[in-house]
Amino acid sequence: MATIFEKIVKGELPADIVYQDDQVTAFRDIRPAAPTHILIVPNKPIPTVNDVQPEDEPLLGHMIYVAKRLAEKEGIAKDGYRLIINCNQHGGQEVYHLHLHLIGGRPLGPMVV
Ligand code: IMP
Repeated sequence: MATIFEKIVKGELPADIVYQDDQVTAFRDIRPAAPTHILIVPNKPIPTVNDVQPEDEPLLGHMIYVAKRLAEKEGIAKDGYRLIINCNQHGGQEVYHLHLHLIGGRPLGPMVV
């Protein structure tokens, strides 16, 4: 069963896509936690961090690099932002297609777990 994010990557569901290349797709979160809330997802469906394989290391680095570039584009790089990946139930993961949250645009305070 394809997840919502896999369908967004394939263009089968609408999304506010802010960046896409051959490895990742980035789109705005439908329930933003801050003025900037973008999800960076691999185009290939990796369910969770637990499923990451050695060959995925460059892909994960690329996700962080894209997040950095998008933070610059959003004008939030200097003040700062937060990058989050949730994993499984205790991590609060809702969509089982790996994704990196880029959140910023206001002071986020200390991380609350
Ligand atoms: P998770 O808890 O790390 O899995 O985060 C899933 C995120 O996906 C949540 O912040 C949701 O608001 C977001 N989300 C769920 N469905 C959609 C959608 O269709 N478009 C954009 N964001 C979504």
